[in-house]
Amino acid sequence: MLVVRAVEDLPNRGIKKGDEFRLYIVDAHHHMGREKGHKNTPAGAYDFYAQLWFEIQKKSQVLNDDDSLLFEPVGVEAPDLATRLFQNKSNWARMNHGWLVDRTIVFPYTDDYSAPSSKGEPSFKVSNDKISSWTSRAPHSSRLIGFARVNPLDGSQKGNLVAVKELERAVLSLGLRGLKLHPLAQLFVDSIEKNEPREVVKRAGELGIPVIFDTRNMRTVVRIKRLVDSLRNDPECGVAMKGLRVILAHCGMAPGDSRLYEALKDPTIFAETSTLHDRDVPVLFESASDRLGASNRVWSEKILFGTDFSFLSVQAMDIILYLLSRDFPGTLADAQRVLAGNALSLVHSPFRTSMGASGQPNEFVCKDKSFTIQRELEDSIIKLTAKGTWDLGSLDFMIPPIGTWPEPKKKADGGFNGVDMDSYLLTLKSKEKTKELHLWVRRRPDDYVSCTVLDTQGMTRLETLENASQKIGQVLLRSISDHSQTLQSSKEFQSSIFKHLL
Ligand SMILES: [Zn+2]
Repeated sequence: MLVVRAVEDLPNRGIKKGDEFRLYIVDAHHHMGREKGHKNTPAGAYDFYAQLWFEIQKKSQVLNDDDSLLFEPVGVEAPDLATRLFQNKSNWARMNHGWLVDRTIVFPYTDDYSAPSSKGEPSFKVSNDKISSWTSRAPHSSRLIGFARVNPLDGSQKGNLVAVKELERAVLSLGLRGLKLHPLAQLFVDSIEKNEPREVVKRAGELGIPVIFDTRNMRTVVRIKRLVDSLRNDPECGVAMKGLRVILAHCGMAPGDSRLYEALKDPTIFAETSTLHDRDVPVLFESASDRLGASNRVWSEKILFGTDFSFLSVQAMDIILYLLSRDFPGTLADAQRVLAGNALSLVHSPFRTSMGASGQPNEFVCKDKSFTIQRELEDSIIKLTAKGTWDLGSLDFMIPPIGTWPEPKKKADGGFNGVDMDSYLLTLKSKEKTKELHLWVRRRPDDYVSCTVLDTQGMTRLETLENASQKIGQVLLRSISDHSQTLQSSKEFQSSIFKHLL
């Protein structure tokens, strides 16, 4: 998390000079694997973020001297729970840095091993496996979110598109939570709206995962918009349209082009900032607030921060520093949406794989005024994952319902920025890969903490990380309240929960 400090009083925003705020940051575009000269792993990502923070500090000094910043970056804070996880093993503790960026959406390069190993095999199979193994194991599962990549032109087998099968495997079996498509690298720029890419995008919509497209020109953006329109007008794509979210990586590399904003007026389409730097940056945000701000739309809900590391590196600081500048046409809430809220809202479903079962939930509640009981439970779970009998598939914090990201509170008032650090979902997977559970830890009214043990499939699974009872299924809520117990001590609380982890 980036800590920023107001350089002067902002009476119309209720901000005083010196007030500090925490901004949560998600990098929505990041590659891991190996492609020719490029190579990256989780450790490489964290090193890069440490370097990015170093560069931000250097540049912000210059900007401060020019008096162009409204909020100066003053520090980086690591989220407490993930930090404690990293500190649990010495070889993990070495990677406990780079916390400028809290979470990273990771997908393959056009890897050296992305080519199909034999005829009929999908491209990116090995790459997707690697992304999954990096992103769904402790400790990196607390920081990384894995997306799959496929090649729509892989052809078909027994009447099924190979790419669609691979997408299903990546999402359902591996638990990857989005899809990256690269029309240029996989040579389908001219056929984005045609059968194979269309079928892949349609299936992604049905699976409820976001699709990020590489777009390096307006022609590609216009084609993607036409594809979305054609799916919308197709009565057979109703389910797909309900789940479809499309992200235009690199904003078509033309942040001043009106066609970008025509596409962004589509409720399904979003844009990501990587490659934009220098003069592109004010053009993007000024155009977005002008052209999308009319008609009661929150323009800042349409743009996601991304780095495209390792193809690009410190260019990303231009975006972060602009969001803190006097020129930025928005508030800290707008900046927070761009830096994290939009990416988290687009992913919004918890991590899960087809390994999970379905069954009734069990809720355990305990009075916990000082947070001691919650911290003790967390420490026990961290120990459990470090021991290796259970692995941590993901750590997902609860977020506000889509469209309701709040104005960040100052640190002196708790520093809440929308990401609820004390209410979260842990996905635990047994080492033998036979069991998968969600532990849903929440702060409750009157200083209670609850931990709900949930199966990850079936009628009573948790569908969304949005923290609002109206977003959570009625069947699930009723079932939880039918299977809720209040415990009197930390020991009882833990032993009741751990009974489910035998
Ligand atoms: Zn990229």
